[in-house]
Amino acid sequence: MPQPLGFTLNPLDRSTVEGEADPLGRFEADRRALSVAIVGDDVLLRMGEDGGTALFDAADLTGADESAPLGLLDGTPVLARHFAPGAAERLLAVRGRRILDLRSTAVQGLVPAAQLGILAQAKSLFDWHARHRFCANCGAPTAPVQSRLRRDCSACAAQHFPRTDPVAIMLVARGDLCLLGRQVRFPPGTYSCLAGFISQGETLEDAVRREVLEETGVRVGAVTYQLSQPWPFPSSLMIGCAAQAETEALTIDHKELEDARWFERGEVGLMLERRHPDGLATPPPIAIAHHLLRRWYEEGSPVSR
Ligand SMILES: [Zn+2]
Repeated sequence: MPQPLGFTLNPLDRSTVEGEADPLGRFEADRRALSVAIVGDDVLLRMGEDGGTALFDAADLTGADESAPLGLLDGTPVLARHFAPGAAERLLAVRGRRILDLRSTAVQGLVPAAQLGILAQAKSLFDWHARHRFCANCGAPTAPVQSRLRRDCSACAAQHFPRTDPVAIMLVARGDLCLLGRQVRFPPGTYSCLAGFISQGETLEDAVRREVLEETGVRVGAVTYQLSQPWPFPSSLMIGCAAQAETEALTIDHKELEDARWFERGEVGLMLERRHPDGLATPPPIAIAHHLLRRWYEEGSPVSR
């Protein structure tokens, strides 16, 4: 059974939070309230003998510089607290606590998969607040309102909402071959699906065709949506597609990619299992590329059938 795709399980009911005037006040007043904590860009964990958790009693996390309501977990309010890096020493004074970046937390499977989704939600929210302190419309300072679910401009009254940046990521296939690339920053031997931000005024399908053509010179025909994944670094939504290649000749854009090449299905199977004779590998199971590749390897690309 493959590890679930990272950050995609989020059990919180957000509907009450979004429909209420002051959910933060109600959540803070609830003695049962739970909270996750973001410390700088990292997450606070508690490691025990039977595994780790990122959910704390909200009352145990005092002195936060920001708090926001996230949603209800089986009726229990769940908050997010943000602490400056300087608070780390105080937070770590409690036995068993640990501070770690969210990516490593996910890769190492240190907390239940459902908590990764909650942590992703909290991290993206605080990242958005940190980057939107001034109005994009007029430049004046903005202030959080509605329990930190929105920021309003102090001068022109423009309302700003947390945003998500869509990224297309695609498994490009032609028969029993698929096209993978590697960026310089990837771990040695790792090849992954091509990906790129979707431009304004562009469909998902055209973004896939444009990125593949720009980076490798390969022409793509049919594109079908497969699955998506929140990627909280800082707040992307990875939209996974299967793409049917119509040509095979490669013209690699070396500003974007260190290398790109076609892989046979059997080779991809060895890479997924980390048994490739040359040490080549796919990204780990927390990444959507792993699941797009596994799906193609096991079932064949739906667009090529
Ligand atoms: Zn403004």
